Amino acid sequence: MPDPNGFLRYDRRLPARRPVPVRISDWREVYPPAGEELIREQATRCMDCGIPFCHDGCPLGNRIPDWNDLVRTGNWDAAVESLHATNNFPEFTGRLCPAPCEAACVLGLGGQQPVTIKQVEVEIADAAVARDGLRPRPASAPTGRSVAVVGSGPAGLAAAQQLARAGHTVTVYERDDAIGGLLRYGIPDFKLEKQHIDKRLAQLTAEGVRFRTGVDVGVDVTAEQLRAEHDAVLLACGALQGRDTPETPGRALRGVHQAMAHLVAANRVVAAAGDGRPAPATLPDGTPIDAAGKHVVIIGGGDTAADCLGVAHRQGAAGVHQLDLYPQPPTERDAARDPWPTWPWLLRNYPAHEEGGERVFAVAVQEFVDDGTGQVRAVRIAEVTVEKVDGRRIVTPLPGSEREIPADLVLLAIGFEGTEQQPLLAQFGVTRNARGAVDARPDWQAADGVFVAGDMHRGASLIVWAIAEGRAAAAAIHTYLGGVGELPAPVDPARQPLAAR
Ligand SMILES: Cc1cc2nc3c(=O)[nH]c(=O)nc-3n(C[C@H](O)[C@H](O)[C@H](O)COP(=O)(O)OP(=O)(O)OC[C@H]3O[C@@H](n4cnc5c(N)ncnc54)[C@H](O)[C@@H]3O)c2cc1C
Ligand code: SF4
Repeated sequence: MPDPNGFLRYDRRLPARRPVPVRISDWREVYPPAGEELIREQATRCMDCGIPFCHDGCPLGNRIPDWNDLVRTGNWDAAVESLHATNNFPEFTGRLCPAPCEAACVLGLGGQQPVTIKQVEVEIADAAVARDGLRPRPASAPTGRSVAVVGSGPAGLAAAQQLARAGHTVTVYERDDAIGGLLRYGIPDFKLEKQHIDKRLAQLTAEGVRFRTGVDVGVDVTAEQLRAEHDAVLLACGALQGRDTPETPGRALRGVHQAMAHLVAANRVVAAAGDGRPAPATLPDGTPIDAAGKHVVIIGGGDTAADCLGVAHRQGAAGVHQLDLYPQPPTERDAARDPWPTWPWLLRNYPAHEEGGERVFAVAVQEFVDDGTGQVRAVRIAEVTVEKVDGRRIVTPLPGSEREIPADLVLLAIGFEGTEQQPLLAQFGVTRNARGAVDARPDWQAADGVFVAGDMHRGASLIVWAIAEGRAAAAAIHTYLGGVGELPAPVDPARQPLAAR
């Protein structure tokens, strides 16, 4: 029985972030552990609602009121069990998820403060590691069936773990030199230290999952070879085709890059250097792509842009502007537009924003300005209005509003256009749809015996959706292979986030 008055006694509180001057001098995570007393207090705020809307916000169907109450009563082992029953990697979602569950929490009704669900989650996840070091749970007997998973992001890894635990022989193929997908080289260490991935990989390895890095499926090994070696294939190749702006004058100048080029280069340096202050980042061809001493302009308003901002601060940028096409969002939920319990359009202040930089809203780049040597020296922007006409976005510059912002390094973080066009697609007989994603039938097959999950299927999304789709695709593969019983399938391919319209 939960404490019915907990939310009346305690306000929502999160642990203090590490001080800005300290944290931008290293690459460690921004949040320190919360401490047991604070977490038990915050878990006490959960009312164990008769209809827990937090469940509907979470595609994994996490048993949130159950583990909140187990934490409240100090029953950590049971909380760990309950959390892992629906989520393979709560240490990732607890650190990185924007927490649609919190937006749907009943305590958030009427502008009140929801339960700190995500913080409770990460504390349980870390307790699991501290208690038994992520004890492997290998299958009791092999099924003799074999599955190839292509792509080692959260979708591929969740599917691999589910299938291995069900007794199938699973091999994960990854073209990169390390496992983890965007968690590894896309998301910086100050959001997710890579030790968390490595601990989980040790568990998967002990459960029998085989990893093959440096294998570009479709190039180094053909679809035909993979299909001959395995009984089923799961494609979980992500949505890594970065959106570009080739029509903007000056796009080809030196110093104008895709955001991911900057992030991956920076994260690789951190990976090589450990905790120390690393050497400057470079592109694979040796071109420097480091923000040190530079005026940086980041174009875009999402996760990728915020990550570039945090990286630029840590690299020692002289100044950073972050440009957004859209007007500044409200600081409180607009109930007419996004009624509770849907995900609200709000001004989101990531930790990187309190570290510095200036945000500029409702502007669009008109030109990347040449310094006369082929290097960018500024961006020329105009204030704009944006409207949707027949589903198309119309951006209109306001006459006379143009101005220049100094820029030595420009990073395009303007979204993704779906999964990359690559040889693997035709070889497996699958195609990209209008959004650049690969459609799945209701049983997650994109072609006979070829399943698809994660961003590759959904388009650029969230880790929690990737894990949910990986679990669901694993359940479908298990059935396809004639496995005994059913694996949990939290979502179907048509499932969408909670929305009012
Ligand atoms: C910069 C950035 C920050 C983000 N921050 C957050 C966040 O804070 N919270 C959140 O919830 N989400 C965040 N996201 C989104 C999240 O990372 C993705 O939704 C998630 O990683 C998708 O998982 P996935 O397994 O589908 O694909 P990915 O993680 O993209 O992994 C796909 C993998 O497939 C591999 N691959 C592709 N083709 C082949 C091939 N032919 N052969 C072998 N391997 C191949 C790729 O190398 C890659 O490793 C962020 C995304 C970006 C870009
Ligand atoms: S909606 Fe909020 S208060 Fe209700 S059960 Fe979920 S976390 Fe607890």
